[in-house]
Amino acid sequence: MRLSPNFPRRALYSAAAGVLLAFGALAARTQDAPKQETHGIVVANMDASVKPGDDFYLYANGDWIKRTEIPPDRGRIGVFSTLADLSNKRTVGLIEEAAKANAPAGSNVHKIADLYNSYMDEAGIEAKGLASLRLHLDAIAAIHNQHELARALGECLRADVDALNNTNYYTPNLFGLWVAPGFNDSDHYAAYLLQGGLGLPDREYYLASSDRMRDIRTKYQAHVSAMLKLAGFTDTDARAEHIVALEHAIAEKHISLAENEDIHKANNTWKQADFAAKAPGLDWAEYFRGAGLSKQASFIVWQPTAFTGESALVASTSLETWKDWLALHLIEDSAGALPKAFTDERFAFFGKILAGTPQQRPRWQRGVALVNELLGDAVGQIYAQRYFSPEAKSQAQAMVTTIIAAFRRRIDALSWMDPATKAEAQAKLTTLYVGIGYPETWQDYSAYEVKVDDLFGNVWRASLFDYHREVARLGLPVDRKEWCMTPQTVNAVNLPLHNGLNFPAAILQPPFYDPQAPAAVNYGAIGAVIGHEISHTFDSEGSAFDSKGRVRNWWTPADLAHFNAATAKLAAQYDTYKPFPDLAVNGKQTLGENIADVAGVAAAYDGYRASLAGKTAPAQDGFSGDQQFFIAFGQNYGSKSREAGLRQQLMTDGHSPSEFRADTVRNLDAWYTAFGVQPGQKLYLAPAERVQIW
Ligand SMILES: [Zn+2]
Repeated sequence: MRLSPNFPRRALYSAAAGVLLAFGALAARTQDAPKQETHGIVVANMDASVKPGDDFYLYANGDWIKRTEIPPDRGRIGVFSTLADLSNKRTVGLIEEAAKANAPAGSNVHKIADLYNSYMDEAGIEAKGLASLRLHLDAIAAIHNQHELARALGECLRADVDALNNTNYYTPNLFGLWVAPGFNDSDHYAAYLLQGGLGLPDREYYLASSDRMRDIRTKYQAHVSAMLKLAGFTDTDARAEHIVALEHAIAEKHISLAENEDIHKANNTWKQADFAAKAPGLDWAEYFRGAGLSKQASFIVWQPTAFTGESALVASTSLETWKDWLALHLIEDSAGALPKAFTDERFAFFGKILAGTPQQRPRWQRGVALVNELLGDAVGQIYAQRYFSPEAKSQAQAMVTTIIAAFRRRIDALSWMDPATKAEAQAKLTTLYVGIGYPETWQDYSAYEVKVDDLFGNVWRASLFDYHREVARLGLPVDRKEWCMTPQTVNAVNLPLHNGLNFPAAILQPPFYDPQAPAAVNYGAIGAVIGHEISHTFDSEGSAFDSKGRVRNWWTPADLAHFNAATAKLAAQYDTYKPFPDLAVNGKQTLGENIADVAGVAAAYDGYRASLAGKTAPAQDGFSGDQQFFIAFGQNYGSKSREAGLRQQLMTDGHSPSEFRADTVRNLDAWYTAFGVQPGQKLYLAPAERVQIW
């Protein structure tokens, strides 16, 4: 599930806790990649003064945490961001080569160079000022009635949400489109519609009553006013007040992130003709005309109550407020392509106040991020050729095979599961597509026009190009080997409706994967990543789909009851984690990821033991093989976050904070043996309290 304007859920990891840049939240990036001098766990990062049974996360990462400072231009730093920096550095190298290559006009290489240069041309952007934006603002100003409003709202629809792969439930537009295999016909692409319309990341920002949230809302309203003022609006304080009030009303209609996770509540097919009756208010025929979807017969509506509520608000709120809301969202969305004053004001709120990041990233890094976002496959194709060897691909493939085999044995060994349910689970592993390094086919960018002197147009055309490409797929047969992450992304993802996995090239390298490191370390690091993604196939959401990606209950009632009881126990375990006195981990919101973590490390451990073929693993640095396995796993999650960013993650992310991900080892018996963990130690769980789901 990818790096997108919000927080990928089914992916291994969510980038940058919350810095919503105008081009989407981008991976945290640092200056220098680590020098790989050792091959194995990094002993210098550990804190030997901490008992593993008291705080395993600090035991594995404590000294690194003590000596590491979060750079001022980011919200957090860790293994993922450090590798993302390396990927970024390589990517800017590829972009600079592209700029010198004199490639033919219209070629991908030419487009990469032109897009990057259009972003770096700050003088040109200042000189153009608001000219490009003005045309669109004028069109909004010319809206005279509900009919025209509906059309304008439809014209804003984009394919910018993703409920299950990259897991992004956020769109600033009224609604968002996700094109994916159908819940009820997984052989063809269907149109999913998701709730949207907020400027802040989630409904909780509008509805929570804490002082901190009240303060954020006050500052948000001031920010809205400032953005409108920059764009030449008058009376901006009053306009801002009305816009924020409208967004507050929208937030009241939204369902929560935890509720979004329930597939069965999301499976609502509405014929186009049903919308007017089920969600009166918005002129739906005109909305779909504006969106270019008049011919689309039916949709899957993820949150029906939100559609009913938001549609009613279109009718009940004044036209002037909706026009101001449209203008604001346009300005916010375009800020990254506008003069510096807009980018700075946006960062001052979303970067500094919301995420707690003091400083913007250097422009070149934002430029690389933009190219990765708009021409990701064009860059990825070159990246994979340059940085991913056939050997690396075959070695990673071998590890995946070992871990899938371990997962199969775990399923067979489950005493509580009926043979019929086991057979269906095994069938899912048989049809699982595992993509390693890069996709089988690449995106075709020939219909995307890039001009070296038109950043605003480049960004605008990209979002339309992307939207039209997605709409054109509706009703077509599903490509089971589709990818939803680029090779240069440091992450991994499970696509439940495809029953597929993507392991991009950029994560298949040290420290996650190092051919010279002991097997224990590779299994604990990348092995657990692989196990995590395989486990999503059987997490609280993944287990709702069968081997063909259809929503189908393939469980016997007794097995399902057992599964639900075990997962409820895991949710309760995570509910007890309180990073702040006033804010705990939400065990339900993070359940799918927590299942994947615990099942993934268990399968990786089995795979590791199997790889030893009965031999004893060599000790290294005084640590046994099993100890190295668990420490390597813990070191995957070494990271530091700013308080504001961590708070945002707790509220909006499907992943638990890093320390609790590392501490999930407390659910594995082998961890207790490896470190001699005793009752009374803080992470100790009595055997009956340890949660083993798969
Ligand atoms: Zn995940």
